[in-house]
Amino acid sequence: MGRPSSKVADAPFTICHVIKQRDENPNQSSQHSLPKADEPPWSNPLAAYIHIPFCAHHCCYCDFAVTDRHDHLMDTYLDALACEIALLETPRPMQTIFIGGGTPTHLQPTQLQRLLQVVRTWLPLEAGGEFSVEANPHGLTEAKVEVLVQGGVNRFSLGVQSFQPAKLKTLERDHRAEDVECVLALLRRFPVTISLDLIFGVPGETVHDWRDDLRQALALGPDHVSTYGLTYEKGTRLWKQRQRQLVQPVDEDIELAMYELAMDFLAGAGFEHYEISNYALPGCRCRHNEVYWANNAYFGFGMGAARYVAGRREVNSRSLDTYLRRVLAGQPATFQSETLSPEESARETMALQLRRSDGIERPQFKKRTGFELDAIAGSQLARQVERGLLLDDGTRVRLTRRGKCLADAVICDLL
Ligand code: SF4
Repeated sequence: MGRPSSKVADAPFTICHVIKQRDENPNQSSQHSLPKADEPPWSNPLAAYIHIPFCAHHCCYCDFAVTDRHDHLMDTYLDALACEIALLETPRPMQTIFIGGGTPTHLQPTQLQRLLQVVRTWLPLEAGGEFSVEANPHGLTEAKVEVLVQGGVNRFSLGVQSFQPAKLKTLERDHRAEDVECVLALLRRFPVTISLDLIFGVPGETVHDWRDDLRQALALGPDHVSTYGLTYEKGTRLWKQRQRQLVQPVDEDIELAMYELAMDFLAGAGFEHYEISNYALPGCRCRHNEVYWANNAYFGFGMGAARYVAGRREVNSRSLDTYLRRVLAGQPATFQSETLSPEESARETMALQLRRSDGIERPQFKKRTGFELDAIAGSQLARQVERGLLLDDGTRVRLTRRGKCLADAVICDLL
């Protein structure tokens, strides 16, 4: 919701590059050949993602699986979700649940209630579990927050993106800075963790604008902040505007300065930079996203949702019509699937874990993948250490500050 698609809350989507082939027979979904509960977390899912594709407006930069023209199908979609989740056949206790989108809070309170009832039945949250919902500042009413919190939600991820009117206009966001303040005041009345999403590198934006966004975000006292550089995803309206030179991307050096500014600004306010794009106060990391970065297993339900169960990756159809038709007919909505070889899986684990400030711990990596880290990437790691992009203390490998700025290139080199 409200982010460029590099966001790893959409790890289901960002890892799609590893899904190279379409199933000949997508009916043969493995979602429901479930591993046993005593299997390790990279095989047995303890996390679930649920996708709600509805948005009030399809923002120009967004290439998520969303729709702004089918509100009349919201109830039918919830019927389909209930059918898809019920294919589990037996309730599966979860440590983390993440309802994302789209805009989950575009649903009405009674619809949210229905959704939460299904989640409670099939994906009961373990004691102490994390239950996140993405929300837009615009349209998040007290009635919706009450329903969500009563239904077990304890973390809100708000698609703020900016406090600057010009930036919000370029991004086609439908809220004002004042709306964010009101929503924060509302959420603070409930026992929930609050995360703010911000975007930098928007056409016309200056480092000064970005500093002001960071300052205004921190003034609201969030527990967690995610910052994303704007990306021009092929096919989006923003991408087309760029093709026609109607918008001018921010200079790379300026974007880098913005990234470094966020690092310094948020660290100065006591936030831990625990993943390339994510910052948390102590104890407030997003545990659900940490599942993706550990390359552990997770369920995924809904249009375009991805899952990783027992070593098999699957993605549901991104077509609302296909998703509804298949699921309501009792069939899986799987569109693409792939089982990675052990070595491919190990390389993917390496790429994902390197995003974390904790980096890759060699003994844990061996236990997780069956491979010695150095056996699959020893020379590349040494090269990046020499370039000052990685730190290697013999046990753990992690990105340096400069490495974080060039993370995509470092990770590409390792793959
Ligand atoms: S509000 Fe909807 S369309 Fe806009 S960025 Fe978020 S998910 Fe995409």
